[in-house]
Amino acid sequence: MTEVLGKDISQWVKEFPKIDTLMKNEKTDWFNPQVKPAEEGIKHVGLTRADIEDARDRLKRWAPYLAQVFPDAQRTAGILESPVVCVPNFQEKLQSHFGIEIPGQLWAKLDSHLPISGSIKARGGVYEVLKHAEEIALEAGLITLEDDYRKLDSAQARELFSGYKVAVGSTGNLGLSIGIMSAQLGFQAFVHMSADARQWKKDKLRSHGVTVVEYESDYSVAVAEGRKQSESDPTMYFVDDENSTSLFLGYAVSGARLAGQFQAYDVRIDADHPLIAYLPCGVGGGPGGVAFGLKSVFGDNVRCIFAEPTHCPSMMLGVMTGEHDALAVQDFGIDNVTAADGLACGRPSAFVGRHMQYLIDGYYTVEDPEMYRLVALLAGSEDLRIEPSSATAFAGPAHLLGESAREYRERTGLTDERLANAIHLGWVTGGNMVPAEEMDSYIAKGESYM
Ligand SMILES: *Cc1c(COP(=O)(O)O)cnc(C)c1O
Repeated sequence: MTEVLGKDISQWVKEFPKIDTLMKNEKTDWFNPQVKPAEEGIKHVGLTRADIEDARDRLKRWAPYLAQVFPDAQRTAGILESPVVCVPNFQEKLQSHFGIEIPGQLWAKLDSHLPISGSIKARGGVYEVLKHAEEIALEAGLITLEDDYRKLDSAQARELFSGYKVAVGSTGNLGLSIGIMSAQLGFQAFVHMSADARQWKKDKLRSHGVTVVEYESDYSVAVAEGRKQSESDPTMYFVDDENSTSLFLGYAVSGARLAGQFQAYDVRIDADHPLIAYLPCGVGGGPGGVAFGLKSVFGDNVRCIFAEPTHCPSMMLGVMTGEHDALAVQDFGIDNVTAADGLACGRPSAFVGRHMQYLIDGYYTVEDPEMYRLVALLAGSEDLRIEPSSATAFAGPAHLLGESAREYRERTGLTDERLANAIHLGWVTGGNMVPAEEMDSYIAKGESYM
């Protein structure tokens, strides 16, 4: 094989034996030896709790507008937040599926049920478009910060925004969020879709008047093309999924909101009642931003663990080698072909791997058939329908409790007593808008793999 960053593959494998497992597409995990106490790790992020508060305030300003224009945002008064639910029947199913006991409680955070796009992207993606629109509207004198933003649901505002373009490169869900939000405001919206993007997502965007540009290649190319197009057009704003701190902060707002939800259910999170969040990871912005929000609120009492497909372990590879976005999985012959379209990003975010690395406890990979099995098990036990990307979250407990995590558990004080009180939280990143027939086929596939 060829050289990667000036080194033979065999040399890489010698330095990082785990790469051999990754190259064989075998499921595995890696617990970060460099994880740091929350406060130290947060300093390294370069963003603060005040930045999250700023994002939260901005979303609050927009809430009346969102409630007015999106019927599915009405019930939460325009605050885009998802339910968190306990899933005991699924926990039982998982125990027999993995042949292990899962001490503590299993919960699911249902970003699959977020308004607008039915995925975690309704946090970051929508937030970044709103931030951009707010800047334009303020600049034009159309609103002040104290105004009722429903004013922006007007012909005058749409006329203003129609002079601007918004573009993004996506595997699907980010495109949906950015495209629908932008089109609603009146922007000209362009979504550059990678080959793995599902047809229904493209159809839905076109029905909203969004221009969908399709590529034969993967996510990185779709992003690069989108970026290129926007560089030559000053009226075009490019949402840069690989680098954006706005997206990141939009995701991070979830932390304080989750703390409030747990409080309402009398779920205690403290040193003896650890919260363990399992977060499906693509380019890293979504899980990275959520993890930042969680760490900002729960400190060392939350552990954040990222899930990736065996065919696309890009964040694990980047953080483990310390090379981050200098490496793509394809450099090692890993094909990035997976049913988890939301996670098919061969090169990790330049921002998240570097800035969040000390706050992420571990990484594991999931095989495609297992994603489908988990989709079927959850649907069968709790009547929750989620997409394969999201299902990767629920392979997490088996990794955390497994032999290869023993050293991690001991090093970080995750004792049996504490695990007995653990809240395992699978972050369900998407699924509610998947067409029924397509969802049925996921479940049938999962059952056939049992
Ligand atoms: C985008 C997405 C993720 C991961 O978010 P990244 O920011 O790409 O890491 C996970 N699940 C689903 C369903 C997604 O759409």
